Amino acid sequence: MSYSEFLSKALDAAGAREGARIEASSGGKTYSGILMPHHEFSSPDILIIKIGSGYNIGVRMRPGLEVRVLDGQHEAQKKEDAAPRIDGLPNISLIGTGGTIASYVDYRTGAVRPALSASELTNAVPEIRDIANVSARALFSIFSENMGVEHWQKLAEAVAEEMNNGAAAVIIPHGTDTMGYTAAALSFMLEGLSGPVVLVGAQRSSDRPSSDASSNLLAAVRFCTAGGNAGVFAVMHDSPGDDSFAVHTGTRVRKMHTSRRDAFRSINAPPVARIGADGRIEQPQIPEAPPAGKVVVRSAMEKNAVLLQYYPGMSPDLFEDIIMKSKGIVISGSGLGHVNENMVPLIKKACGNGSVVVITSQCLNGSTNLNVYNTGRDMLSAGAISVGDMLPETAYVKLMWALANTADAEEAKKLMKTPLRSETGDRRTVDV
Ligand code: GLU
Repeated sequence: MSYSEFLSKALDAAGAREGARIEASSGGKTYSGILMPHHEFSSPDILIIKIGSGYNIGVRMRPGLEVRVLDGQHEAQKKEDAAPRIDGLPNISLIGTGGTIASYVDYRTGAVRPALSASELTNAVPEIRDIANVSARALFSIFSENMGVEHWQKLAEAVAEEMNNGAAAVIIPHGTDTMGYTAAALSFMLEGLSGPVVLVGAQRSSDRPSSDASSNLLAAVRFCTAGGNAGVFAVMHDSPGDDSFAVHTGTRVRKMHTSRRDAFRSINAPPVARIGADGRIEQPQIPEAPPAGKVVVRSAMEKNAVLLQYYPGMSPDLFEDIIMKSKGIVISGSGLGHVNENMVPLIKKACGNGSVVVITSQCLNGSTNLNVYNTGRDMLSAGAISVGDMLPETAYVKLMWALANTADAEEAKKLMKTPLRSETGDRRTVDV
């Protein structure tokens, strides 16, 4: 349903387009904010405006209303404005990438689309202004299923630039679907980080009352201002309510639920810290002192790599082409890391061809061990390596990185076995 005639005439006469900042007066009251798309199910007299708090309000307009455009430029395309700096507060750079955290519901279609600018996002959380100087810019405005290797590389460059220009920390609002991949990619690509790089997302878009966007963002800023933590992390709800937030190591984090606000879990490692709603941070392990030098980016990646999940019935014939074309193959095996014995000759062929075959486990929890059963031992003899309790997606990202940053397959295999960013550990293994 579109606007009623008097309303659309008033909007047209004022030149008010979606995304513009407007002021509308009707029935003796004045409302200002960003003009949002009209809701299909709203009455034709309702105007939807995103007000300063970030919430959308629907206001019934009456004939004779007055509309004034305060700023006609679409908010999402606006250059990010710098908030006034407060001396003594840490400088945090926010690099927007898109995702639900920077999205609103398109009321014409009901679909969620990335639209909020990075500065709009920080402005929606006034508490941030009291604890940090946040400067925001948008690098991408995409859903994270559309992220690829080039995005990780550009992001790594952008993070290094911010840190080397004096940012104490970098926060990256990101779609939740592939946040773990990006976190792992940045973990390996960035060397010598002097502070935290924190990915943050939301399971519910910013214009919903149940949105976790603001609270996750505030928790991320609080973690960044605590000082002392250098590395790549993800901060998300730790409980269904708004009472606890978890800080996960970038190489250990996984989205474990499609919709819950506490969907993110650290796998095979405890969260680095927990943050209460009051801002108190519980961090059992005191972090090591961060290095003082410049951040270096090593972002080369071997794109000829695949991540395959083994399943009963997997046909070596069907996968031969893919496997033989790939320089790196990560297989998420069953249990301790197994595949059907009929896949073993193909693994051998790939390894003989100079490719690296890495075995992880689709159990996620616990470590791989190819020494227990005959199948595993045959896989090892065929040339496969296993990488302990590393997440399959982390192994995939690390393998792309290892292959591009070493001289040969043997060196890449060594690197895969060497813990670099807490991506593996023997804390909970029962098989070593
Ligand atoms: N699929 C989208 C993404 O990952 C939306 C999900 C989200 O941000 O939570 O970007």
